[in-house]
Amino acid sequence: ADHDLDYPISPQHMDWSPFYPTHFPSDHARVEIADIGCGFGGLLFALANIFPEKLIMGMEIRIQVTQYVHEKIAAMRSETGSYDNISVMRMNAMKFLPNFFEKAQLSKMFFCFPDPHFKVRKHKARIITPTLLTEYAYVLQPGGIIYTITDVLDLHQWMVKHLEEHPLFERLNNEEESGDPCVSVMIVETEEGKKVERNHGDKYVACYRRLPDNRAK
Ligand code: SAM
Repeated sequence: ADHDLDYPISPQHMDWSPFYPTHFPSDHARVEIADIGCGFGGLLFALANIFPEKLIMGMEIRIQVTQYVHEKIAAMRSETGSYDNISVMRMNAMKFLPNFFEKAQLSKMFFCFPDPHFKVRKHKARIITPTLLTEYAYVLQPGGIIYTITDVLDLHQWMVKHLEEHPLFERLNNEEESGDPCVSVMIVETEEGKKVERNHGDKYVACYRRLPDNRAK
């Protein structure tokens, strides 16, 4: 149930200072990168090093996992003096993203090893659906990128199908994909990616660019 989740009634009502105390209050700072279903947060720490100037948010629905990542970030901050630019919040990304982010606020969204929901009658619970893609297109800026990775071929094909069918997304070509440092970190730095590696499983990647509205397919 979501009745115990805290969320602002609109992005203007969001107080980011508890999450990024060295950056807020501010009249220009804003979160630009979101790791949706961040789990134990391995990707956040890798992204913090690639984008030290950008604010990055891990969004996770499980309380204990969020708490674990919160403590890990606090420990890393005091140990290194860095990692001020990453944070984590407990939230339901399938319901409340537009409460947190304005139109065109984000430049990157990560969906790393999302829950597969194997059964056909559970497919509507998947985190990539036509309706949710329209929400993701809303919070992404034109040229912004959705990154997906999974070890479940059926889920990969599902995500590709819906992204292909959506008017506002086009797939990165192989060169763009292999040249993007975010792609290698999501393959190797996520906890799930490491687990799949140990089990010699496959990893399927698909990255899509958010088109400007006047270039909709
Ligand atoms: N991305 C991490 C990784 O690659 O190691 C974790 C992958 S884990 C299989 C999927 C995560 O998504 C879980 O931690 C789960 O709690 C989270 N999750 C599922 N539905 C969510 C939702 N609606 N909003 C936020 N997080 C969600």
